[in-house]
Amino acid sequence: MGRHIIEEASRCLQCKRPLCSKGCPVGTPVNDMIKTFLEGDIRRAGELLFQNNPLSVVCSLICPHEKFCEGHCILGKKSAPVQVSDIENYVSRYYLEQFQPQRPVRDSNGTRIAVIGSGPAGLTVAFIMASQGFDVTIFESEEHIGGVLRYGIPAFRLPKDILERIREMLLKLGVKIRPNMTIGPVIGLDDLFRDEYRAIFVGTGVWNPRPLRIAGETLGHVHYAINYLKNPDSYWIGKKVAIIGAGNVAMDVARTALRKGADDVTILYRRGEEHMTATRYEYDYAKLDGVRFRFQTAPLEIVEGGLHCARTRLAIDEQGRTRVETLEQEREFFPADSIFIAASQAPRTNLTGMEIGRTGLVITDEEGRTSRDGVFASGDVVTGAKTVAEAVSRSKRSAQAMLQYLARQG
Ligand SMILES: Cc1cc2nc3c(=O)[nH]c(=O)nc-3n(C[C@H](O)[C@H](O)[C@H](O)COP(=O)(O)OP(=O)(O)OC[C@H]3O[C@@H](n4cnc5c(N)ncnc54)[C@H](O)[C@@H]3O)c2cc1C
Repeated sequence: MGRHIIEEASRCLQCKRPLCSKGCPVGTPVNDMIKTFLEGDIRRAGELLFQNNPLSVVCSLICPHEKFCEGHCILGKKSAPVQVSDIENYVSRYYLEQFQPQRPVRDSNGTRIAVIGSGPAGLTVAFIMASQGFDVTIFESEEHIGGVLRYGIPAFRLPKDILERIREMLLKLGVKIRPNMTIGPVIGLDDLFRDEYRAIFVGTGVWNPRPLRIAGETLGHVHYAINYLKNPDSYWIGKKVAIIGAGNVAMDVARTALRKGADDVTILYRRGEEHMTATRYEYDYAKLDGVRFRFQTAPLEIVEGGLHCARTRLAIDEQGRTRVETLEQEREFFPADSIFIAASQAPRTNLTGMEIGRTGLVITDEEGRTSRDGVFASGDVVTGAKTVAEAVSRSKRSAQAMLQYLARQG
């Protein structure tokens, strides 16, 4: 591993205008990190990564690197790009294990900040605000912090001990965590302002599955992907599994089902292979694991023991847009012990007191300011389902907007 990492790092051309950083939503300082690492200062290299992105180690494992840093590496035009993810992982993992969080840059300034949700968005804001001396309290619906990192992405892709380490670091920075505490139904934004939280950050993600609204969706052998991933061991799924949808969430369900006793897992998708929203990397891994795919297949109705589907074809409408046409006459029955629906997610709508859009997403400006003074939001609850790096990037901007707001308040 060590040899490979040094060889990879040595391949970096140290471009004057590094496209790798430009291609990364959170602008990882790849050049400086690699240079510092090769000079023998791994601790400083880790610090550079961590200060830019407190979830650097997470991103090194689960970012779509082929789209972000590695996809932009100039070497990739003629041969293999520098494996930035491997170098970032080595450096940031070392840093996470060795790092002793410093006391806040400023001593506690006695100003309270509430962070609602502990996914990548909330964690980013908590790290930034705590290291600036604010008294941060995280409110989290679930038992553990991490959001999708804990309750969505399977452990075979993201080891959960990383989140334990992140939690320890937050506690050392003086952050308080209230688990099993959903803000909205009982305690709301007004209560937080009453208790003198001077600014509130909302990073509550998208946790409501989008239903298909087809007959049979409520039957006992049908499950929503996002619910299943939360705790796969509490489900009986049988041997033959069908999954409707072909994004990254569907890939995670398929690969988890195979590890939890299913031996025949098929992803059914209305469109063709080229339209799948899953990344190439996730698709390749799903195929390696033995997941089967059926394209141009739409579900019509779910019944006991399986589902009725029909073939589809793509048609072009008058505006030139592609539309999926279901060929009802080309029906077939697809037998399955259990069926998973992976057709995207929307926010839960239990938080009120700020402007919410028609689809449930929180409305903000580019810096994450909501319609309510002192309340900021970012991550999936603002953008809809995206990536960890995008949630971190927007949350860094929200934290800056919070700091400006607090400075103006005096
Ligand atoms: C299965 C799956 C796989 C994915 N794989 C990848 C991947 O490989 N790479 C990648 O970059 N991205 C991936 N993503 C997307 C990525 O995980 C999200 O974009 C990211 O987690 C968004 O972060 P967030 O903080 O906005 O929301 P979340 O991670 O959803 O965190 C929100 C948190 O808020 C809590 N919460 C919600 N409501 C309340 C409330 N009212 N009060 C208190 N707490 C509340 C939730 O419990 C949760 O902990 C994946 C997503 C899913 C679902």
